[in-house]
Amino acid sequence: MSTQAPNTARRTRRRRSAVATRLAGMLLALGLVVAVLVLLVRLISPDDADKDQSPAALSAMMTPVPTAVPTPVPTPALPAVDVTGWELRLIDFDHPLGEDFVPESLTDVGDGQQMDSRVAPAFLQLMQAARTDGFEPYVCSGYRDYATQHVIYFDNHVNVYMAQGMSEEEANARARLAVNYPGASEHQSGLCVDVLEYAGQDMEPYIGGSGLMLWLEQHCAEYGFVIRYPNNKTNITGVEYEPWHLRYVGEEAARYIMDHGLCLEEFLALYDPGLTATPVPSPVPTPIPGAVG
Ligand SMILES: [Zn+2]
Repeated sequence: MSTQAPNTARRTRRRRSAVATRLAGMLLALGLVVAVLVLLVRLISPDDADKDQSPAALSAMMTPVPTAVPTPVPTPALPAVDVTGWELRLIDFDHPLGEDFVPESLTDVGDGQQMDSRVAPAFLQLMQAARTDGFEPYVCSGYRDYATQHVIYFDNHVNVYMAQGMSEEEANARARLAVNYPGASEHQSGLCVDVLEYAGQDMEPYIGGSGLMLWLEQHCAEYGFVIRYPNNKTNITGVEYEPWHLRYVGEEAARYIMDHGLCLEEFLALYDPGLTATPVPSPVPTPIPGAVG
């Protein structure tokens, strides 16, 4: 038995060393697996270490991100013009010039017509440009005084419609679409003019969109004028389409108005809606019962 003892001890030692080797190998493998896992986690979220973990940052992360942030559309800046100046004065039924208004100075602009002297040079340049492009414009109507407007409104429109059978109210409503009420016509300001291709041309909306009318629409702004009563703006201006009626507003305003397809009322409202609002009549004071005046 004793001769076998050293062999047994050797076998036991060999077995123990084999177990230790296997254990070491397993530990090494485990270590490798852990290392690879750590590396993978790092690779998948490489920025985690850099992330701000402060409460403020965490709360910012919790805040829901708005889904559709609208991209602001750049709007061309409105021209820096004085909308309360004489060039941009709104003249209509609710904003009349009044019976006594007369322009300070008038200048002949051809065909027996006159305009406010401050705008006549620009208009004459516009007419010269039209002639250069082959037209022979006829200045149909410029400045008109109150009395003339009265005749045009009543004798040439209201009375004619009434003779055709309309009531006075109907005749006035029809007349106001075609011609401004006395005292409320731009023609009394001297700032506007009616231009036709030739004397006697029909003043009907259909003449717009071609010939001289189209040319005026394309070029009037270069000289500070606008088509005052554009097509499809009757609901705002209260006047039917008049491709022949040019109103001076100054070059900057004119270019903006024509480029954006506006009428004067829409342009003024961009600055101050109060400029185009219908004035509210001052209330009639109610008599206090029993009060002694
Ligand atoms: Zn006119």
